Amino acid sequence: SSTVPLSSTALPNVRWEDIGGLSSVRHEIMDAVELPLKYPELFKGSRRSGILLFGPPGTGKTLVAKAVARECGLPFLSIKGPELLGSYVGESEANIRAVFEAARSAAMSAAKPHTLNSGFESGQGYGGASVLFFDELDSLAPRRGETGHGDGVMERVVATLLGELDNGLGGGGDTANSSKSSSPAPHVIVIGATNRPDLLDPSLLRPGRFDRLLYLGPAKTKEACLQILLAQTRKFKFQDGFDRSEVLSEAMQSFPPTLSGADLSAVASGALMRALKRICDDVEEEARRINSIERVDDKSIDAVDVN
Ligand code: ATP
Repeated sequence: SSTVPLSSTALPNVRWEDIGGLSSVRHEIMDAVELPLKYPELFKGSRRSGILLFGPPGTGKTLVAKAVARECGLPFLSIKGPELLGSYVGESEANIRAVFEAARSAAMSAAKPHTLNSGFESGQGYGGASVLFFDELDSLAPRRGETGHGDGVMERVVATLLGELDNGLGGGGDTANSSKSSSPAPHVIVIGATNRPDLLDPSLLRPGRFDRLLYLGPAKTKEACLQILLAQTRKFKFQDGFDRSEVLSEAMQSFPPTLSGADLSAVASGALMRALKRICDDVEEEARRINSIERVDDKSIDAVDVN
């Protein structure tokens, strides 16, 4: 039996408004994922595809995958490629099969729309589907014959992954069963992420597998940085009259020309920490002031007692 460290099957808490910029990625991925869920009849029999998000570290690939699941009200299962690689013969292949099985059963358990309700507004969820996210996909599916493993382990791992993708995605829509049975086959939406698409085995990118490639890059303009910072500081509380755009634009004058979302997140949390530090300093200062007044009062009380 496999003990795969799947990170979660809950509804993620990332919403589109938490993500700055990336609007074309958002539209493309939502069309790819949501339209077949919304209009299953229209998409019956059409080929399903996996989605590959690629780009440098910290550019929002994981965030986007979570937002898709969240906005469609689907369970989200996430796994890092290297975590599936076991040391026993056949263990990695078993792990891959187990992950797909877990995703299928999560999809089935979400079979009724709107029953998944950790904060999801009812009336907007889709049933019978789940999102399976493979981070660091390149480590799981490197080009066959170039892995440095002479024993064919990686070849078998890639073959297993391809087999699962073909089973889960390729058959088209809800399979022939759906016309006979009232319960359609579970729909696993597979999203992969990598910093190095060039390292992937090309068979993975063929039609019906990961054939939708979406690039996520760092922010290269002040406007793109501003969009990300505005999203990241969305929940910060500001004084009345505080103009975030103006203050952030001012602060960005000294930024380097290219920054990833993760770099900007460090800027936003740095600013928050400095603000909190200022508040703490003010509170401490106030506490010292009150304390010193009380000491003076104590002394005057003592003085009264002594006399
Ligand atoms: P890696 O390739 O290293 O796995 P990734 O592309 O999956 O990175 P994420 O984990 O999605 O990157 O993003 C890292 C962090 O950077 C996020 O938690 C978030 O704070 C911030 N971030 C990245 N992109 C954006 C964005 N477009 N808007 C808001 N925050 C962002």
